[in-house]
Amino acid sequence: MRRALLILLLIVTVWAMARPAAAQQAFTVGPVTASPGAMAAGTIQVAARAGDAGTTIPITVINGASAGPVLALIAGTHGMEYVPIVALQRMRDRIDPKTLKGTIVMVHVANMPSFLGRTIYYSPVDGKNLNRVYPGKADGTISERIAETITREIIGRATHVVDLHCGDGNESLRPYSYWITTGESKVAETGRAMALAFGLDHIIVDKERPTDPAASLYTTNTAITRGKPGLTTETGGMAVVDEASIELVNKGVSGVMKHLGMRADGPAPVAKPVFLERTEVVRAGVTGVFYAAVERGHMVKKGASLGRITDFHGKTIEEIVAPFDGQILYVIGTPPITKGEPVAAMGAPGVK
Ligand SMILES: [Zn+2]
Repeated sequence: MRRALLILLLIVTVWAMARPAAAQQAFTVGPVTASPGAMAAGTIQVAARAGDAGTTIPITVINGASAGPVLALIAGTHGMEYVPIVALQRMRDRIDPKTLKGTIVMVHVANMPSFLGRTIYYSPVDGKNLNRVYPGKADGTISERIAETITREIIGRATHVVDLHCGDGNESLRPYSYWITTGESKVAETGRAMALAFGLDHIIVDKERPTDPAASLYTTNTAITRGKPGLTTETGGMAVVDEASIELVNKGVSGVMKHLGMRADGPAPVAKPVFLERTEVVRAGVTGVFYAAVERGHMVKKGASLGRITDFHGKTIEEIVAPFDGQILYVIGTPPITKGEPVAAMGAPGVK
């Protein structure tokens, strides 16, 4: 009996040792296939339909020599958020597929109509916000078809997702990330660890995202509602491409890769994160010309002026005040303002 057990143990040991540790396969996304230990790039086509000419989604697949997580890095959801777009262009040549464990899938410009059309928030083609139409529709408008394509080809293939934003072309923003707590607790906990690993020291605790995968609305939430941990980051703004913000993206992605075991070295997680449990987007009550009274990062007291809106002749028609004591995460830095649009976002730590 004991001898039979020993033989069985021997067989199991030999089988385990003979098995390749983590055999990597070729990885295909849309028309792009990367062999193990190689990088490949190409373009996903979003076909034309009645009403628009379709669009393209440029991607890079960096396939590591050994198997591991599939990390999707998505830039350009909003077309005037340039820092992550430029950061990914630089980063692709710095990641060595020979030493990479797992696979990186980069979306360089998710929203090409908005990028080339130089629009904030909304697509110039259908007037929709790409980050509000997920998981998209195969027979929908251009933004809905982009979302459907990214849901299927990118999020569907990934194990982890980082949606890289920055302040839009009109938003003066201090860096922060969103930790989305909806979804299974394991997914949420990994998302928290990814936020710490990305390294931005202000983290919004976002408990308000929809839980229905069929109405996920946001890119990261589409991953989370499909059981895949994700993170949304904000670095830079005002259509400025600055080195400091690019480095925040580079360092952040390196930290997430290290955390996921995709690379051996990398920056340490943020040591003293500020979790912002209370946040609010303060919106304009009227349409007109906005004059900010605060700057990004400022600490303000409840009731303090955040700015004012004048009519088009210069008469003040609304004073905007802080809804609570907190920090300015972003403030609109250009004059045009339409009723209902954000003028600023504020955050404050909670009880954590
Ligand atoms: Zn954005």
